[in-house]
Amino acid sequence: MNSKIAFLDRDGTLIENAHYLSDPDGVRLLAGTTQGLLELKRRGFLLVLVSNQSGVGRGYFPESAVESVNQRLQDLLRPQGAQLDLLLYCPHQPEADCRCRKPRPGMVEQACQRLGLGLEGAIVVGDSDCDMQLAEGLGVPGYRIGSKLLPRLDSLAGLLDQV
Ligand SMILES: [Mg+2]
Ligand SMILES: [Zn+2]
Repeated sequence: MNSKIAFLDRDGTLIENAHYLSDPDGVRLLAGTTQGLLELKRRGFLLVLVSNQSGVGRGYFPESAVESVNQRLQDLLRPQGAQLDLLLYCPHQPEADCRCRKPRPGMVEQACQRLGLGLEGAIVVGDSDCDMQLAEGLGVPGYRIGSKLLPRLDSLAGLLDQV
C-alpha cells in the first residue's frame, strides 16, 4: 500500500553535500541511504525527491546537469531496488521568489497532484533549516539528517516505529 509520501532532500541527505554539485561523477551516497530508502518503501512510502538547485538560476550549471546528477543517483540506488519514485527540483535563485523553492510548498503540491495523494502520513527528511520549515509549513513530521536522533537515513525506521 503505497499511499503516503516521504519528501526527501538530496544534497546532504541522500548524497554527500558538495558545493553546487553538477558533475554526476561526484555523486556519493551517504552511509545508510540505500538501506534507509528500502525501509521507507517497506513501510509504504513513495519516495519523492524535492531539491533546491539554485545553481541553475545563478547560471552556474544548466538544468541538464541537475538531471545528470539525479540520473546518477537513481543508477546507484536501482541495483538494490531503492530508486526514487519521483524527482523534482527548483532551478530558481532565491530572488526569483518562486513557489517551488523550499521552504515554499510548490514541489510538494506538484508531487501530490502527480501522484494523486494528499499529505496524510507524509514526512519530510532533510538536513537544512529550509527542509524543517517545509515540514512545519505542511504540518507533517520533519526529520533532520545529521542530528543526534537521526545520524543517518537508516536510523529513521527506528524513529518511525516509535510513533
Ligand atoms: Mg540539503
Ligand atoms: Zn522554484
